Amino acid sequence: MAATLLDGSKIRDQIKAELAEQIRDLKSVGVTPGLAAVLVGEDPASQSYVRSKVKMCESLGLYSQKIDLPRDTTEQQLLDAVDSLNLRDAIDGILIQLPLPSHINAKRVIEAVDPAKDVDGIHPLNVGRLVSATPGLIPCTPAGIIEILVRSEIPIKGARAVVIGRSDIVGKPVAMLLLHHHATVTICHSRTRNLAEVAREADILVAAIGRPAFVTAEFIKPGAVVIDVGINRLTTAEEIRRIYRDPSVPLKTLESKGSLLIGDVQPEDMAEKSSAYTPVPGGVGLLTVAMLMANTVQAARIRRGMRTATRV
Ligand code: NAD
Repeated sequence: MAATLLDGSKIRDQIKAELAEQIRDLKSVGVTPGLAAVLVGEDPASQSYVRSKVKMCESLGLYSQKIDLPRDTTEQQLLDAVDSLNLRDAIDGILIQLPLPSHINAKRVIEAVDPAKDVDGIHPLNVGRLVSATPGLIPCTPAGIIEILVRSEIPIKGARAVVIGRSDIVGKPVAMLLLHHHATVTICHSRTRNLAEVAREADILVAAIGRPAFVTAEFIKPGAVVIDVGINRLTTAEEIRRIYRDPSVPLKTLESKGSLLIGDVQPEDMAEKSSAYTPVPGGVGLLTVAMLMANTVQAARIRRGMRTATRV
């Protein structure tokens, strides 16, 4: 049977529609949730991420402010900027676009953000809340993955879940969320022995590695659900021919767009062996920004002592 494609755009649109309704209700009582996005330096990828976040704020009627700081901003100047955002009532969410330049201690900056405004869910207080299953702000990509699974009615309770990748922003928090949804979770990483064999035990396999098509057929149990978090860019025909069994369509994309996005899972193997999977592009990535908006709305409600929607 053909695998089900877990369409990120459909789920993102559902979430956006629900958020639009919540935002209307908030505005009717005089509250407009606000997000500040802080960008240090001119990294083109970071600039494009921040642009897409500000654009979605605008489309939902949220207040947003983009704060562009030069690359040579000192750590103290950035901490001062964070402090003033912590104090501003119109700002409910503060997003520090990572990575920061190497002369700035990112951990110190993350810890300076008011945990009530930490819409990326990476302040140690929110990490602690996540671990102890206390309601709080949850990192956006892991929250989006759970939304995809739950809204697609994929059973998590009792499932064997394997997460490849142990980053603070994806691997660890998604493993924790799967655990809270009663999966039996294994976290794998670059030192895991017999990685493919461990991955093959998964009913739900999450790949968050950052290596194009690293996960191949031998990692996937027939009928598993595969969530591909990776976003990698291929720029040469040679790479495409090495990765794809049938490179004709990807080669056309390379020709027309100059590059090709690919996840951490070999796409043909994923479509053939899984029962359901998230495509790249068009899967998990689309949920991340929507969950940032959801966190901003949630932060606005919590700060004003309002009831919050039940979250994952
Ligand atoms: P990271 O580099 O912080 O972590 C990668 C993890 O993969 C590490 O924990 C490492 O142990 C593991 N790893 C590396 N090589 C490995 C190997 N050979 N075998 C097993 N494990 C290995 O990356 P990250 O921030 O977690 O991001 C992972 C991927 O997800 C990247 O492609 C990134 O672009 C993508 N990403 C996507 C979104 C989204 O919205 N879809 C959001 C964040 C990250």
